[in-house]
Amino acid sequence: MHNVYFYIIIAVFVLNFAWEQIMSYLNRKRMSPHIPKDLEGIYNPGEYAQQQAYQKTNSRFGLISGGFSFVVVLVVLLFGLFGWTDDVLREYTVHFLLLPLLFFGILFIIGQVIDLPFDWYIVFKIEERFGFNKLTPKLFVSDFIKQILLSAVIGGILLSAVLYIYQYTGKWFWLLAWLVVSGFSLLITFFYSEWIVPLFNKQTPLEEGELRTSIESFAEKAGFGLKNIYVMDGSKRSTKANAYFTGFGKKKRVVLFDTLMKELETEEIVAVLAHEIGHYKKKHVYQSMIISILTMGITFYILSLFLNNLQLAEALGGETASFHLGLIGFALLVTPISEMLGLAMNYISRKNEYEADSFAAQFGLGDALISALIKISVKALSNLNPHPLVVFWYYSHPTLLQRIEKCRSVKV
Ligand SMILES: [Zn+2]
Repeated sequence: MHNVYFYIIIAVFVLNFAWEQIMSYLNRKRMSPHIPKDLEGIYNPGEYAQQQAYQKTNSRFGLISGGFSFVVVLVVLLFGLFGWTDDVLREYTVHFLLLPLLFFGILFIIGQVIDLPFDWYIVFKIEERFGFNKLTPKLFVSDFIKQILLSAVIGGILLSAVLYIYQYTGKWFWLLAWLVVSGFSLLITFFYSEWIVPLFNKQTPLEEGELRTSIESFAEKAGFGLKNIYVMDGSKRSTKANAYFTGFGKKKRVVLFDTLMKELETEEIVAVLAHEIGHYKKKHVYQSMIISILTMGITFYILSLFLNNLQLAEALGGETASFHLGLIGFALLVTPISEMLGLAMNYISRKNEYEADSFAAQFGLGDALISALIKISVKALSNLNPHPLVVFWYYSHPTLLQRIEKCRSVKV
């Protein structure tokens, strides 16, 4: 006999998958062998044909890999395998730290093993075929191992801290856990470039020269103290170009992928950075930090209501109420709320992107930004004609066409 939680969990899970399929179908329906009018002059016919082939391949692969994980999780839910795993582990330990750590450790390893062949296929079949891949099998394996170890260490520390707080504080669990986890994530953000990035990439200070001088003089003009400009060897994994800002306060730094420097002219790179500086100047960085800390607080509070819930444990096939089954049940049940939250966050993010674009355009860099964005998108064979509903739901950035329009509308 299943309880009501079981049926709600299954319904939420199935509906969410169906919704994702609808979204992906809407995008597929907009594909066409003829280049859409709006995209003429952005894609040439040859590149457009490549883009369509890339999109088709990815969409088909997404259907297969997404369908596969859907079936796996559905089987796990229908047969109560989360609870079964818990029952089995309980024969060995019921320790408040050890049991959940083992439980999530096993789930994590199984998840990684299932994903591995799919990731391999993406890199060595799809990305390779379209000329993006630079990874060697050796680097792929060492990345994989490093990522697993890193997640195990960070996840292990955080989970242990939360479990410890849960064991000893009871009612105020959510508040303390919230403080500790947000403190920890701020620490990671602050030291991201020094602790995490060097495990995977080499960063070298941008050498003196035209580019550095142009970036510095723009930063000065924009009233933005910028000392740390680095180049990263992104080309060891992919030909796709990128640039990002990280850290805050004294630790803020600009990181340019070497691939970006190869693709773009000096003024275009300055325009891309002007956009990023715009995010700082318009306080988007602090805004999103505050939003994510607040959401974390609300999440912990709601989570505290679900932990140690016997009915939830039974819905997942278990016999004993526990922290870890409560957490899994919570994560499944909360999907509709997190989708809504994601929707709101994407809306804010798109608004911020427009603001950052306008910021760059106000310094007379609008045209350079447009040509940089076009180059980056075309090089990456991006889908520039997504369905509006998909943009509304999933996109953290406006589409290229929307951004071009916005940049052109800014009066300098
Ligand atoms: Zn941006």
